Amino acid sequence: MRLLLMGPPGAGKGTQAVAIAERFGIPAISTGDIFRANVAQQSPLGRTAQQYMDAGEYVPDEVTNAMVAGRLSDPDCADGFLLDGYPRTLQQVDELDAILERGDTALDAVVLVEADPGELVRRLMLRAEAQGRVDDTDEVIRRRLEVYAAETAPLAAQYAERGLLATVDGLGPVDVVAERILSALVAKSSAGS
Ligand code: AMP
Repeated sequence: MRLLLMGPPGAGKGTQAVAIAERFGIPAISTGDIFRANVAQQSPLGRTAQQYMDAGEYVPDEVTNAMVAGRLSDPDCADGFLLDGYPRTLQQVDELDAILERGDTALDAVVLVEADPGELVRRLMLRAEAQGRVDDTDEVIRRRLEVYAAETAPLAAQYAERGLLATVDGLGPVDVVAERILSALVAKSSAGS
């Protein structure tokens, strides 16, 4: 299984990614988590990424693409993976296509987790209180939602054209949303076979 999980900040992607990846026995790869780990270690990558993350902007494509290409070449990705939060720009879509082509593989499905903007802000503010993420402040949240709408939301249409997209309502308890995602994936695989 080679899957992508897309959705606006606050849609609950991270939680779902871990549950879905576990179900399929594949690694969940969150570019946000990898960047945060690098920021915590103050690695060169972390020092580059931090300024963008703190402002709610995307880390530049060449930096992000190199990081993902490296991670996907790890042995645990040979039989599948779930990418959470990548690709987020058209250039990243192109890079992922090139990586997959080099490995003579292809995506099986792209899941878009949707939620209404008011709910997203409410969830992000709750997470800010619970986790103290520096990019969960009012102003940065607004910016992250704007950047998502401008740069990432249009990618869904591309994957829909390729017949890969499954859209799922992200509103509701975690296990209910996880079931929706699994049903959508089953429907997708039986439609494609
Ligand atoms: P996330 O945890 O997925 O919300 O990501 C947190 C932050 O990491 C984002 O706001 C970006 O600054 C950065 N980031 C994560 N994934 C990407 C990506 N695919 N491209 C660029 N920046 C990213």
